[in-house]
Amino acid sequence: MSIYLDSNATTQVHPRVVEAMMPYLTGAWYNPSSGYAAGREVKVAIETAREQVAALIGAEPDEIVFTGCGTESNSMVIKSLAREIGRKSSRVAVSEIEHSAVLRPTEAMAAVGFDVERVGVHDNGRLDLDQFENVVDSSKPGFASLMWANNETGVVQPMMEATEIAKAAGWWMHTDAIQAVGKVPVRVDEVPVDFLSISGHKFHAPKGVGALFIRKGTPFEPMIRGGGQEGGHRSGTENVPYIVALGEASSIMMEEAGNGGLDRVAALRDRLETGLGERLNRVEFNGSREHRTGNVAHVSFPGRVAAGLLPKLDAAGVQCSAGSACMTGKSQPGHVQKAMGFSDEKAFSSLRLSLSIFTTQEEVDEAVELIARIVS
Ligand code: PLP
Repeated sequence: MSIYLDSNATTQVHPRVVEAMMPYLTGAWYNPSSGYAAGREVKVAIETAREQVAALIGAEPDEIVFTGCGTESNSMVIKSLAREIGRKSSRVAVSEIEHSAVLRPTEAMAAVGFDVERVGVHDNGRLDLDQFENVVDSSKPGFASLMWANNETGVVQPMMEATEIAKAAGWWMHTDAIQAVGKVPVRVDEVPVDFLSISGHKFHAPKGVGALFIRKGTPFEPMIRGGGQEGGHRSGTENVPYIVALGEASSIMMEEAGNGGLDRVAALRDRLETGLGERLNRVEFNGSREHRTGNVAHVSFPGRVAAGLLPKLDAAGVQCSAGSACMTGKSQPGHVQKAMGFSDEKAFSSLRLSLSIFTTQEEVDEAVELIARIVS
């Protein structure tokens, strides 16, 4: 039996999602831009999915653009905003704990002369708002790109406060909400961000589909030009089955939020932490207790090396990771742990255990036993 505790890396495709998308791989494989009835029907399926995604985040359907993945959504915004603000006397603010899908494109901007500032976080993993306020300069055109929830710790960022600071300075605001959507309430009708990135495979759609929220009236320069699909924001014949999948997954996550499914995940995460705390003398739980997604436990085992634990856990059937999947195999301590002030020793002794709506209590109890045995 394997126990999957790496849901921040990716999630199992939900059976309902598979069921919803299959007809668009088999019978309804037409081009949605075709004028005949079969094509128009496929187009309707895309628009239904757009409504489902919009509903999940409190957007209007025409504010949703389907993309190939979360990384693409982030790059699309960053490139468009770079052009919008221009290189001369502008500024960009990101946090030190962003995913590489924000860090690398903004590094590329810095390499060609943009002023890109990285804002630190407190030791609980939350953005240092004072530092952010100092970096945001209303005398300069600029934008901020801040993640809604961190992929390694699950810590939810002060998005409302940060957005208010950015907007008050006349800056554009983008959030990489890839690890927040479907896990905590993410509402663009409450938090006035201009852009928001979504990735399907983090909440039970397949890998290779994402979405970008672009607030109505916000200037946007497409990265991919062509046939003008997706309102001209992202050309290319639409990946209909995957778009339908993202729509269905969005509806499922809304249901899970409404029917207590997400609370059940959080209770299991708490049970996992309590179990480990009871069985191990030396264990530390990292990141804000109060502001985090319900599915992540970020745990340090002082005196142990995560890279040594992982193969043993894998052999015992526990699948988890020491950080983001993209960092696997890297010999440096993770940038998120560094930003939170971890010593190298602590950073190297930490594991990310991330659950999903498919995680069961039996799995959690079994994982506690196995992890405790292997760590001690
Ligand atoms: N941003 C965050 C915070 C992520 O966790 C991930 C995936 O790990 C991405 C961006 C990249 O998304 P995708 O895998 O859809 O390209």
